[in-house]
Amino acid sequence: MELKICHMYPDVLNLYGDTGNIICMKKRLQWRGIDALVETKPIGSKLELAGFDLVFIGGGQDFEQEVLLDDLHRGKTDELRAAVEDGIVLLAVCGGYQMLGSYYETYDGKRCDFTGLLDLYTVGGVKRMIGNYKFQCTDSAGGSTIVGFENHSGRTMLGSGLEPLGKVLAGYGNNGEDGMEGAHYRNVFGTYSHGPVLPKNPEFCDHLLLTALKRKYGSAELVPLDDSAELAAHDEMCARVI
Ligand code: GLN
Repeated sequence: MELKICHMYPDVLNLYGDTGNIICMKKRLQWRGIDALVETKPIGSKLELAGFDLVFIGGGQDFEQEVLLDDLHRGKTDELRAAVEDGIVLLAVCGGYQMLGSYYETYDGKRCDFTGLLDLYTVGGVKRMIGNYKFQCTDSAGGSTIVGFENHSGRTMLGSGLEPLGKVLAGYGNNGEDGMEGAHYRNVFGTYSHGPVLPKNPEFCDHLLLTALKRKYGSAELVPLDDSAELAAHDEMCARVI
């Protein structure tokens, strides 16, 4: 068995070690004897997602999000839309998450028209939302409790028909007001959680991997791993957050 993972924009969207999510997914597959084939798609590369099982997009500063706009609209948006509607698993963090919405207006008024894949938009504010935070995923997103780190000025608002990824337990989440964090649509998981998010949230990582394996092979299971170190880190951060 194998999973093919596409890492989009590693050259510009890699804040707070978000590439660690790729390492985590690879390791948790390899420890189970499942091959993990990772291909990076930097700015200027052609994006063809047929044959890929999972896409990861990290976070970035406002100007980095502006830098990739032209590239995004040269075919990548259409390719992403087709793959999302076909059920590909997509994890997008912070700036990558904002990119899934219709637009991001930076705090100084620059408007980035993004992909519109998800019914959400983001408006930057002067006050940044920074800190360790914790949220409870919805049952449809696996139901795990996630602890992470957020740093964004963007306030993301979800359309009425779009499910959040989870409910904020401590910290800001999408906008610091409605108690929601991230977004979940088909097999797309958007979150503000840097960290990287996956290593200390192994249950969430396995939910993504299992979803991709089941989509590819019809049925699959992941043998349990010794997550004592990961869970110790998770519990330590949970204790710090609340
Ligand atoms: N530049 C965006 C914001 O400030 C995203 C930040 C990020 O990816 N950490 O909201």
